[in-house]
Amino acid sequence: MSDTFDPDLIESARKTFAGPVNFLKSAPALEYLPGADVPEVAFAGRSNVGKSSLLNALTGRNSLARTSVTPGRTQELNFFDVGEPLRFRLVDMPGYGFAKAPKDMVRKWRYLVNDYLRGRDVLKRTLVLIDSRHGIKDVDREILEMLDNAAVSYRIVLTKTDKIKATELAEVRARTEEEARKRPAAHPDLIATSSEKGMGIPDLRAAVLEAIG
Ligand code: GDP
Repeated sequence: MSDTFDPDLIESARKTFAGPVNFLKSAPALEYLPGADVPEVAFAGRSNVGKSSLLNALTGRNSLARTSVTPGRTQELNFFDVGEPLRFRLVDMPGYGFAKAPKDMVRKWRYLVNDYLRGRDVLKRTLVLIDSRHGIKDVDREILEMLDNAAVSYRIVLTKTDKIKATELAEVRARTEEEARKRPAAHPDLIATSSEKGMGIPDLRAAVLEAIG
């Protein structure tokens, strides 16, 4: 049972993601973006946060998003079409914050992400993934600030919650929501997930549907 979402929305979201979801394209630069013809919901997070695993769990597919690809091969926006006829798109944003990233790669990430966030009217919401073992770190605050400055609404999603105890989860949840409440474009409530255990996945699906309206 979800405390956050209406059961009808949960059920409709389940059905949506049980239907067609297809990889459309990768965009290494803005000129390769698909037409802005349907709403988009983006996923952001530091490299290794569990973003690919979560996209696979969300869509109930094993290999929609590639897990654990070599950092550096992922400096592009990946677009996935949901629904036939097409209803909306999921956007897998390039991971950030890995230790050995060369400076020009970090710069490229920053330009690509900032240009996308600022120029994309169809982007309805970004889900920002945060590892529940660590909470929000400074590397994450850069994207939170970019989202706040671009006035793109976002919601925080804790990942890998199976790796921590219930008391630790309660603590990281409280700390993270406290920070979210101070940020202008952040949704005040977060979603706690585990791709491994399937926890929070129905809520995450509902959050995507809620975002596209
Ligand atoms: P990405 O780099 O953000 O796309 O992260 P991945 O999805 O590739 O996951 C990074 C690592 O974390 C992999 O070894 C995954 O198996 C592991 N992982 C991802 N999600 C979970 C989870 O919910 N629970 C646990 N225990 N491990 C996870």
